[in-house]
Amino acid sequence: MSMARTRCTDRVVGNILASWRYDISGISPEMRKDYEQHLADCNHCSARQRFHRSLDVTLFVLTSLAVFFFLFALAVLQHIKPLDHVAFHVFQLDISDMYHMLFSAGIAGLCFSVIALALVLMATPAPSYLGGIASERAKLLEERLPDAIKSLRPR
Ligand SMILES: [Zn+2]
Repeated sequence: MSMARTRCTDRVVGNILASWRYDISGISPEMRKDYEQHLADCNHCSARQRFHRSLDVTLFVLTSLAVFFFLFALAVLQHIKPLDHVAFHVFQLDISDMYHMLFSAGIAGLCFSVIALALVLMATPAPSYLGGIASERAKLLEERLPDAIKSLRPR
């Protein structure tokens, strides 16, 4: 809602940021300062930045889940294989064809989801963004650690 109503305070900078999908992690630290300042000042652009980063994370989560799903499906199919012969004799069904079809579909799905995940990792700042969140969490945890434990850690 607020995203549509707010307006960018500097169209030129705003358009540049939009063309980068509001990801400034790829540019040099000196150049980054102006854009960071604009993101701090401009509600429109900072909202857009949050939106795009959550989109990246969503894509990352979905493609990772797809990879896990197909790995799981293939693992399940591997377990079913010994039952293949039983089914064939008991039900007089050609389970074997179906099994091979499902297995090929599982392999194809795994390949596609791995490619999709690789594209997300390459084309979006999701890895550095998630890494940043992880290191912030680690820092917070460390601050909360009792002094006795902190002194045990190697410097
Ligand atoms: Zn702006």
